[in-house]
Amino acid sequence: MAQLSDDCFAFGGPMMSVDEAVGLITARVSAIAEIETAALVDADGRVLARGIAAPLPLPPFTNSAVDGYAVRNADLPQGEERAFAVEGRIQAGGAAQAPIKPGHTARIFTGAPMPPQAETVFMQEDVRLVDGGKAVLPPGLKPGANVRPAGEDIPEGYLALRAGQRLRPQHVALAAAFGLTRLDVVRRIRVAVFSTGDELASPGEPRAASQLFDSNRFMLMAMLRRLGCEVSDLGILRDERASLARSLKEVAAAHDLILTTGGVSTGEEDHVKAAVESVGSLVLWRMAIKPGRPVAMGIIAGTPLIGLPGNPVASFVTFVHVVRPTVLALAGALPEPLLAIPLRAGFSYKKKLGRREYVRASLRRAEDGTLEAIKFPREGAGLLSSLVETDGLVELDETVTRVEPGQRVGFLSYADLI
Ligand code: AMP
Ligand code: MG
Repeated sequence: MAQLSDDCFAFGGPMMSVDEAVGLITARVSAIAEIETAALVDADGRVLARGIAAPLPLPPFTNSAVDGYAVRNADLPQGEERAFAVEGRIQAGGAAQAPIKPGHTARIFTGAPMPPQAETVFMQEDVRLVDGGKAVLPPGLKPGANVRPAGEDIPEGYLALRAGQRLRPQHVALAAAFGLTRLDVVRRIRVAVFSTGDELASPGEPRAASQLFDSNRFMLMAMLRRLGCEVSDLGILRDERASLARSLKEVAAAHDLILTTGGVSTGEEDHVKAAVESVGSLVLWRMAIKPGRPVAMGIIAGTPLIGLPGNPVASFVTFVHVVRPTVLALAGALPEPLLAIPLRAGFSYKKKLGRREYVRASLRRAEDGTLEAIKFPREGAGLLSSLVETDGLVELDETVTRVEPGQRVGFLSYADLI
């Protein structure tokens, strides 16, 4: 499963910007070519393997947009109201009836096919019924009003869904509207997930006094599943180079991506780097991102490896910015750049020039009604509460050095990140 070429790691220099790092990796990852079919009910979240041209127009036939009365354009009242004889009743699902006769109107309901010759529908609220069963229609309605022509939504043959589209409920709806029952999708990306660290215990196992329960692995697996991946939970690796190396090598062949958390700093007990070097190739990318750096990138037997930092918030932020685009690229998905929405800062903050920072923030409506981002009061990269008690991340780019209350900042909602 060689998805990545070695020269993508030809970088060894100082700090790399987030955009540069992501650009490099996504340019070099080649997409999985294996395709399978998914039933429509299981298609949400999958990546469409082939584009879909509309096999029929939508709507498939011209129909009424309202409950009302259908008439010929030539009969539209001009200047003053006019009484029409009501002939015919067309319900949704009913067959189109005989052509409307001049001077006549037909009762019609939302979604019912327009009868031949009728081109406009009066809403029932605008129509007065008078003795003798006639319908009085007002003047001034535009020709064609309240009618949905065949193909007005999507003409037949239009490339309605593109290859690489990550399917969301609305895309599934469109496929259903075309009458499709199965879709060609890219097979799920297989990701091996490890945590590293002697201080970690798995939930459900005994925890020594100096240990904490492994939270990152569960966060990362949940994020990967949201991205449509098939995840192998490979537990916790001890801080020991040889066993780390063995475990990483063992899983490489059966996975498209190896993801680790912890052990990528430059401390004496950070062994991921050396382990990867002993069984593959590695460059420690010191990404100019806070919280986050360092992030390790490597290849083991052709399979890319991303080593995320151990601090939970750093792990979360680097997942979003490095792992997410990598997974999308492996799946051949169309790029989904994260677009920060501008809103008002309700805090002041100082930061270093030249690095990207993500500030955990909650949304609040200020007294004047404007939406404001309020910074979480503490900054530690180990604070899980800072992710749980906020709504998203304020993105401060490399050129920013300070934020003052009232300034515009970009905000990424957690809901949009995965
Ligand atoms: P490291 O990147 O291994 O130096 O770890 C940095 C910090 O993150 C340490 O305080 C670790 O205990 C903590 N940490 C590492 N891995 C995890 C994990 N899987 N879950 C929660 N905390 C972790
Ligand atoms: Mg560690």
